[in-house]
Amino acid sequence: MSRFLEVVAVADAVRTAISIAPAGAGETVPVEQAAGRVLAAPVTADSDIPGFDRSVVDGYAVRSSDTTGAGPSSPSLLQSVGRIAMGMSDTALVLRESECAYIPTGGVLPKGADAAVMIEYTEGAGDTILIKKPASHGENVLLRDEDFRKGETVFTTGRRLTPQDAGVLAACGCAMVTVAKKPVVGIISTGNELVPVTARPGPGQVRDANAPMLAAWLSEYGCMPRIYGIVKDEREAFESVITRALPECDVVLLSGGSSKDDRDMTAGVIAGKGEVIIHGIALAPGKPSIIGRIDKKPVFGLPGHPASAFVVLIAIVRPLLNTMLGLTSAPLRTVKATLADNIPSQRGREEYVRVRVENGVATPLFGKSGLLNTLVKSDGLICIPAGFEGLEKGSPVDVILW
Ligand code: AMP
Ligand code: MG
Repeated sequence: MSRFLEVVAVADAVRTAISIAPAGAGETVPVEQAAGRVLAAPVTADSDIPGFDRSVVDGYAVRSSDTTGAGPSSPSLLQSVGRIAMGMSDTALVLRESECAYIPTGGVLPKGADAAVMIEYTEGAGDTILIKKPASHGENVLLRDEDFRKGETVFTTGRRLTPQDAGVLAACGCAMVTVAKKPVVGIISTGNELVPVTARPGPGQVRDANAPMLAAWLSEYGCMPRIYGIVKDEREAFESVITRALPECDVVLLSGGSSKDDRDMTAGVIAGKGEVIIHGIALAPGKPSIIGRIDKKPVFGLPGHPASAFVVLIAIVRPLLNTMLGLTSAPLRTVKATLADNIPSQRGREEYVRVRVENGVATPLFGKSGLLNTLVKSDGLICIPAGFEGLEKGSPVDVILW
């Protein structure tokens, strides 16, 4: 660690990571599978939506001018001249003065009508309908192109689609959606002390927490994680797994062994097969991180401590994935809060502190960096920029939620 004489600013590390991002590709998926994916081509409405003037209430289609001044004690008396059926357009039905027609929610507004009155404000007496509330022009009516106009851009490239978006896409006639291909991200855990999750650790052993954690986050972020298991701190074994992973992945994450101790092999292995571009980032936790490249593919060395690995994933790897996915906005979920305690920090490095957030107050959890429990007792991270010597109690902060 002491040999990290030169560390690179987070912004520079991010720039480097982005600069080595392989070009992303696109693919088409059925609209019902598009949520969570990033749009790779803009979507335009294939027609006016809803496509016809329609009522948004159950009631009577009216000419608004016929209802002027209507009230409970002075209703407008209108003649019912028909009932509108759902899914049908009765072009023969035209409302003339003092006429109305029953209309269900979503029904096609008949010609002549320009508003609808809710059934609650009407009373039927045979074909005569008492309208007890005035309707203004356009009231309770959606116009044919009010949602989207034919040819209008509904979504632009780079949007991460939500389930609601899938509904809009379907309404716009988009059965297949062009989205960014999921980057395949290999995960290799290194360490003689590591055992798989299914094993009971013996003395000195710990379970591999990083692979499932990284994989889970990557899946949620729209990538395809590929876990290559645990590799001993032996150069040959390490190299052979990387050699296997590279052709199968777009990006490879190596967890553990990223520092500059004699036993840390990650940098040596990357340098042997490609290039180490950055080794050491002004980031805490996460300083002993590596950005490298083998066969034109980005290879990251993440520190073994799960909390550190996670911060590097968020701060450094995520921007590269954003580029590959073509995400125009990188939606980190954040909330504003007020800091409950002073947080000291070293000027010159970007520091991420885990915090718990309750009622708008962010309480820092100053756990030892090797502890796992602060990852789950916390709600997220706050970032103290490199130029700050800590933050004072009461400062407004943006919490990056997990
Ligand atoms: P390293 O970065 O290899 O020096 O590891 C730093 C610390 O993180 C050591 O205490 C390791 O045991 C621990 N560690 C490394 N890899 C993992 C992992 N995959 N899961 C949980 N802890 C790990
Ligand atoms: Mg290790």
